Amino acid sequence: MKILRNETIERRAEARLAELARSLGRSLSLPIPIDRLAEDVLGLDFLWDEIEELPGETILGGLDVESRQVILNSRRYDLFTQKPGLERSTKGHELGHWDLFINRAMLGEAALPGIDVGSRDIIRRSHGHAVAVLAANLRDPWFVDLAYQLLQRADTPDESRAVNRYAAAISMPRELVRAEVAHVNVTRWTDRYDLAERCGVTITALGVRLDQLGLSYVADKRNIHRSKAEAAGQLGLEGLGSDGDR
Ligand SMILES: [Zn+2]
Repeated sequence: MKILRNETIERRAEARLAELARSLGRSLSLPIPIDRLAEDVLGLDFLWDEIEELPGETILGGLDVESRQVILNSRRYDLFTQKPGLERSTKGHELGHWDLFINRAMLGEAALPGIDVGSRDIIRRSHGHAVAVLAANLRDPWFVDLAYQLLQRADTPDESRAVNRYAAAISMPRELVRAEVAHVNVTRWTDRYDLAERCGVTITALGVRLDQLGLSYVADKRNIHRSKAEAAGQLGLEGLGSDGDR
């Protein structure tokens, strides 16, 4: 599987968002209408349908390449309802699979190594994980986010990283997020929750995005910093080494 650089993924997402803006005839604002991006730009539809799960498994979504449909598992409707933002990240994840790995192969563009368009794997893929121990914790938003991270096990680590980056980039475009951050205090939880709501994403998804963009770094639930370097400085570790993300 080809490793896609983050910058390549960001640019692909931005090109798609530009197509969406042209299609809508207006500039984009938050929350990004990713359903329209799927339908108008990528030519995909959404379908709520039952996806079979193995015992102890939770599958949120899948991609039916042949019918160009993103499937959301109707068995997990309650979970999507309990967790605003989960539907968006699930959709974004599947759109990422389509746009980064499958679409170009389908279109006869240079197929990426490791992609066999004819394989069952590609025709209907979904993601599952063992969830038996999670059931009791589903009302804890932090826990559900952790669970969501585990859902990606069916993907190779790099594919998972790439499609999640794509999902973040289409829902939280970097220019729009930077503009928002300029007039809120991202080290305050209330501001972060407001911003997450404006983006239509989970608080954890927002946190990952702010860290990716170098706009804030959460050392732990109580301590949010403008950057990793600032966090290190406050801990008296300044000068011990920089990871250069400032
Ligand atoms: Zn996946």
